[in-house]
Amino acid sequence: PYKESLKQEKRKVNVGNVTFNDDNIVLIAGPCSIENDQSLDLLSSQLVKHHTHIIRGGAFKPRTSPYSFQGIGEKGLHILKEINRKYKVPVISEITDVRDIDLFVKYVDIIQVGARNMQNYVLLEELGKINKPILLKRGFVNTIEELLLSAEYILANGNKDVILCERGIRTFENQTRNTLDISAVPVLKKLTNLPVIVDPSHAAGHWEYIESLSLAAIAAGADGLMIEVHENPEFALSDGQQSLKPEKYFNLVEKIKKIAIAI
Ligand code: PEP
Ligand code: MN
Repeated sequence: PYKESLKQEKRKVNVGNVTFNDDNIVLIAGPCSIENDQSLDLLSSQLVKHHTHIIRGGAFKPRTSPYSFQGIGEKGLHILKEINRKYKVPVISEITDVRDIDLFVKYVDIIQVGARNMQNYVLLEELGKINKPILLKRGFVNTIEELLLSAEYILANGNKDVILCERGIRTFENQTRNTLDISAVPVLKKLTNLPVIVDPSHAAGHWEYIESLSLAAIAAGADGLMIEVHENPEFALSDGQQSLKPEKYFNLVEKIKKIAIAI
């Protein structure tokens, strides 16, 4: 049923100087939510010095509770664009509304579709008509097949730059926020030619487990990682409990460098 995702030998996705699916590990890092310009600037200045290829930051936050912090919206995208200009680093943020596509095309280098919107087919079709890489995250109650069929919605509409992301699924286990489906990496690698990355942060839900899951993902064949990092996780406006402090992230990057073929 996957007509488009197997068409090419290996779909390489280029974002600025960064290439996904090129026998290298791409590191995406940054806070769950963009909070203000100074904090993202300070964090980004350190991240880019430590092998981070792409800076992440949520501006429109699809929170499970309507009473949780919802993000700073368009202002956050402006802040990300400034980071992109200043550090010459690609940036990524999550879209939640089909009406915001023009805004995202203007401000970010990769548009992220989050777990909660993986089956928002109208959004996927519209993203298929633009010329901008899409990071498609697996829904936490979705099968690998459903993820691939969602990817087809984008690909079949013309946009071939799709990166898949495993971010943990809901199981009976509750020691972690979700269960990282490490099998998804080799299975996706078998079933498609698209780049596959892993987000250990939303899978684990606790910073202590990020290192193990990151190394496991690379050993399993992932093309990259997306990791939440925050200068002061205890004061983060979202997902502080799963965010690494910069020092911990830099230690992890050193370990990754030892096991990755290229970084
Ligand atoms: C995120 O990456 O900020 C996020 C909300 O993740 P997910 O959609 O996987 O929950
Ligand atoms: Mn988050």
